[in-house]
Parts: sequence; structure tokens; C-alpha cells
Amino acid sequence: MNGEVAVSNNKRCIALYSGGLDSILAIKMLQEQSIEVIAVYFCTPFFGLHALSDPESFCALQKEKYGITVHPTDFTFEIIKIISSPKHGYGKHLNPCVDCKIGMLKKAKEMMDVFDASFVITGEVVGQRPMSQRKDAMNGILKEAGLKDKLIRPLCAKLMQPSLPEREGWVNRELLGDISGRGRKRQIALASKYGIQPHHIPSPAGGCLLTYEQVANKVRSTFSRFRPEFPLPADLMLDIAGRKFVFNDKTVFIVSRSEEENRTLSIMKHPGNIFMKVADVPGPLCVLRGEATDEHLARGAGICLRYGKARGVSGNVAVYGPDPFAMTATIEAPVFTEEHCKLFHVDSSN
Ligand code: SF4
Repeated sequence: MNGEVAVSNNKRCIALYSGGLDSILAIKMLQEQSIEVIAVYFCTPFFGLHALSDPESFCALQKEKYGITVHPTDFTFEIIKIISSPKHGYGKHLNPCVDCKIGMLKKAKEMMDVFDASFVITGEVVGQRPMSQRKDAMNGILKEAGLKDKLIRPLCAKLMQPSLPEREGWVNRELLGDISGRGRKRQIALASKYGIQPHHIPSPAGGCLLTYEQVANKVRSTFSRFRPEFPLPADLMLDIAGRKFVFNDKTVFIVSRSEEENRTLSIMKHPGNIFMKVADVPGPLCVLRGEATDEHLARGAGICLRYGKARGVSGNVAVYGPDPFAMTATIEAPVFTEEHCKLFHVDSSN
């Protein structure tokens, strides 16, 4: 993250950038009032993978589409701790939204000092989400984050008590919004006002992988394997793509299910990961992490063969190595039945 930010106004704020339309609009509303906004994007393998793996191209894209300079900030260690025991529990799956927001606001508060900022803004809209965006929950989050009244939610500020920046006149409350609920009409109108191209308006769906059942199941199994310790980011990263097979409590094997997952897995060149694919035929990219014994490599090769285009063919060879684009070691792939593969499969629904 670049700490050098030019001063254009005597008041500066930190914005929690999420990549969603609401946070983009919140930033635009404050910039319109000549407030300098430091847009911080908290990223983890579960949200913001692009920013985490390739911050330069991510930032260039945000600048090109929205004219916003974004500062990606790795939040992985924080989210690991939060997932392990969230004080406020989980949403539908493994998404600890209330604690996650508190954690991000706490970190934003720390960053106020680093950037000499006077307050924080978010793109939250009251009543938009069931768990964390009810008015009472939003106030509770604020209190627990220790931000007192140094937070503005520009899109719905007029529906909340005036914050310190509004009372002090740093921000003109009259120019802020009174949006509530799940509709997007008013946000779409604002996007047009701020010159955001319709095809650049982010879709409301997608986002955090912790809200997906299959990912949640895999992440849960990783936490169980490591308890009472925490898994490393590299362990959890493997839960965001592919079919997951557990060979023992130290060793997992991941098999991609699509071209897109091939690309996702190929960026995971962490120490300890061994990439594998069946030689000479198109097929899934796989990753072995843990104990790379001959037995595990052969088992992985058999599973890799089973889920590739050469399934059922005997005598195939798998290649493997630490670089997915230069795998040179080879091993013969035994032929397994699907039932045998499923013995090690974490979530047989995928
Ligand atoms: S959906 Fe994910 S990123 Fe968003 S608050 Fe919940 S846990 Fe955090």
C-alpha cells in the first residue's frame, strides 16, 4: 500500500471500498464535497482475490472504470481469526458478517492515524441486508469498532443521527443520501449522475465466498484439521476452487472443475504446494498440499486422471512440480473408480 497521498483538502477520510456500487457512490459523494478519500479495499482469498493476487492490475481497472485510486490491504490473517470464533456468529453459511465489519472498521480506525484522516465512510445502506445492516445492528457495529461518531454512511446518512463530521461542518449533511432498503433504482440514477458507464456498474450478486455452501464446507473442514491452531492463508486459499480431497489431517488434494478454476489454482504458487496434471491430455490442474509422499502423489495422479478427459484409460502418466507452467517430474497414474475417489472427497455434492 502506498502511504503517500497528496493533500487536496484539509479534511481527509478513509473509505471502506468493497468493489460494489454502493461503496463507489459513497466515495463519489464525498469527493464531490472536496473531501479527500483514501479508498481502502480489505481483501482475502474469500473476497477480493484479484486485488490480493494482482494488486496492480486490480487498481488500474478500478481507476479506469470508476476514477478511484484504491489501496488493497490484506485482511486474511484478520478474517482467519474472525472465522474461527465470531462473537456475533455466522450468517447463512460461514460468513461472520457482523464481526467482519467490526474488524474492518477497527482496522480503518487504525489507518486514520497512518493517513492523518479525520473520519471513515462506508457504502452501507440501512435495511439492505438482513443481518448486519439493520439500524440497531449498524449502531452496535459502530460502537464495538470504537469509531464513536466518526463514521458516515453517505448513502443513508440523513436517516441516521448526524455524525461528528456533519455536526462540525466538514461534510454537508444536506448533500448526503436518504436511501434505505434493497432497491437499486436510486443507486443506478446516482451512478449515471457520476458518469459511471452502465456496463461498468458492478452486479449486486457474487462477492464473498464465505456465503457459498460448498466453500463454507471446505473451509470448515480445514479449520477442523488444524484445530486448535489456525490454518495458514495458503491452506484456506485452496478451499475457494475445485473439488477437495483429504488424504490425511496434513494433506489435501484439489482438482479443478473448469478452465476458470485452472486459472485460479495456477496463481497459488505457495511454498508447499505441488501442482499436477495428466501428461499429454487436456485436463484439470490439481494441487497437492501437505505430505508429498509417493503414495499421496500416486493417489493424486489417479484422482487427477479420473476427473480428466482421459478417465478410465490405463497407463497414463501425470506430471507434477512446484510451478504449474513447468511441471517436469512424472508419476504413473493408477486407475481409480469414482467410488474410490469419493472416499477422500470433502463435499461429494460438487
Ligand atoms: S459477506 Fe463476507 S466480506 Fe461481507 S461482511 Fe460478510 S463475511 Fe465480511
